[in-house]
Amino acid sequence: MEQDYDVVVIGSGTAGYTLAYPLAGAGKKVAVVDERPFGGTCAIRGCQAKKYLVSAAEAVVLARHLQGKGVAASTELDWPALMRQKRAFTDPVPERTEAGFRKAGMDTIHGRARFIGPTRVQVGDRVLSARHLVIATGARPAPLPISGREHLITSDAFLELDQLPADIVFVGAGYISIEFAGVAAVAGAHVTLLEMLDWPLPEFDPDLVGELLEAMTELGIHLELGTPVQTIQRQAERLVIRAGADGSIRHEADLVVHGAGRIADIDRLDLERAQVEYSAQGVTVNDYLQSVSNAAVYCIGDAAAAPPQLAPVADMEAEVAAANILHGNHRSADHRQVPSVVFSLPQLARIGMSEAELDSDRDHYQINFGDASGWPSSRRIGQSHAAYKVIMEKTSRRILGAHLLGHNAAEMINVFALAMKNDLSADDLKKVLWAYPTHTSDIKYMLD
Ligand SMILES: Cc1cc2nc3c(=O)[nH]c(=O)nc-3n(C[C@H](O)[C@H](O)[C@H](O)COP(=O)(O)OP(=O)(O)OC[C@H]3O[C@@H](n4cnc5c(N)ncnc54)[C@H](O)[C@@H]3O)c2cc1C
Repeated sequence: MEQDYDVVVIGSGTAGYTLAYPLAGAGKKVAVVDERPFGGTCAIRGCQAKKYLVSAAEAVVLARHLQGKGVAASTELDWPALMRQKRAFTDPVPERTEAGFRKAGMDTIHGRARFIGPTRVQVGDRVLSARHLVIATGARPAPLPISGREHLITSDAFLELDQLPADIVFVGAGYISIEFAGVAAVAGAHVTLLEMLDWPLPEFDPDLVGELLEAMTELGIHLELGTPVQTIQRQAERLVIRAGADGSIRHEADLVVHGAGRIADIDRLDLERAQVEYSAQGVTVNDYLQSVSNAAVYCIGDAAAAPPQLAPVADMEAEVAAANILHGNHRSADHRQVPSVVFSLPQLARIGMSEAELDSDRDHYQINFGDASGWPSSRRIGQSHAAYKVIMEKTSRRILGAHLLGHNAAEMINVFALAMKNDLSADDLKKVLWAYPTHTSDIKYMLD
């Protein structure tokens, strides 16, 4: 059976979802295919799901920091209740997402899609042909060259744990590991992160990362750098992890979690049969997010070789590709000024240029780097780790980059995103009458 569509969207996550609606709204005949329950990573097993856990852990940490300073009762995480709370949000997502697609006149198809030609895909025994096909298949955990990798659980499984084990090892110290490690440590687990690199989170400011590592140590998180995991073996109920260049470092745990990066989920699509070029980073696209080798195909979100892999980027790319499919290629994706956050305890956020990216003409720039732990906004919540680094062009006072560590850093970085998108200078920001006393009103002290 072959069915013909204007657009077939492969993947119902952030990217596929945001793209499909304007196309259906414009009268296009659209089918959305997904091999997993509809709704994608962000809502069910990514940003939204993990934020339930992180928000509860933040509340506990805040209360603990204020113990003896006005807060009396001790607080702890109730893992099973927290999971129930998270599931109350995530469980209805697939049905609601699919119902929404159908209500908007789209066909929803369950199963794995693979290309069988430049404009045709197969899903089970169905063949779908279309004028345009959109690859929005997201990312999956990177394969790891570890003997015993079958003992690893992924972030998906971590977010479904009914009970939290006592001893947890995370492979890799990327943002997902660091966020989960914080939650697990606050919940009372003994947590170890084994990172292959000599320094974690290389895309974030190293001074602020250094401060974050101190905060993590105070939470009881143990981090070993330059420690690649070599093998994982099951011994009765426990897992034995051997790490380090020669495998001489030994750890035992109840659970080992894969937190060592994600790659574009494209290798099961048979892209060769559609002449769609790709690399290890994802499908190769032009500025319009169209495949460079097959004009019928667009690729958006985590599956495209157009980093970073973040939900707002997937949203933006979906809007761009939808407009280009509807009206011809006229909008390009803008990957500048993307804010990025680690929901660690405390939060770490960045936007724009890092100090390392500046050219050697240092006189051209003003770099304001400071410790904000003594500021009233930190002291009143008992926060002992808070810092900032703002990079400006000296003469114009244009903001080139902002890096924040502290409670609310994720909200504050949005102020910098707004300023940078609209070309507001540091002086423009200082003129704003910020509600006071707030974390946001601290921004003006970072810009002197
Ligand atoms: C634990 C975790 C935490 C995260 N936290 C954040 C955060 O705080 N902030 C942020 O901005 N981003 C975060 N992200 C990243 C964010 O979730 C992704 O950038 C975003 O979901 C990408 O959307 P997408 O539509 O490209 O892919 P997805 O949402 O992954 O959707 C892809 C869909 O395609 C389907 N699919 C794949 N292959 C096929 C096939 N062959 N046939 C049919 N269907 C297929 C999959 O089943 C999936 O449903 C997080 C990710 C994880 C894993």
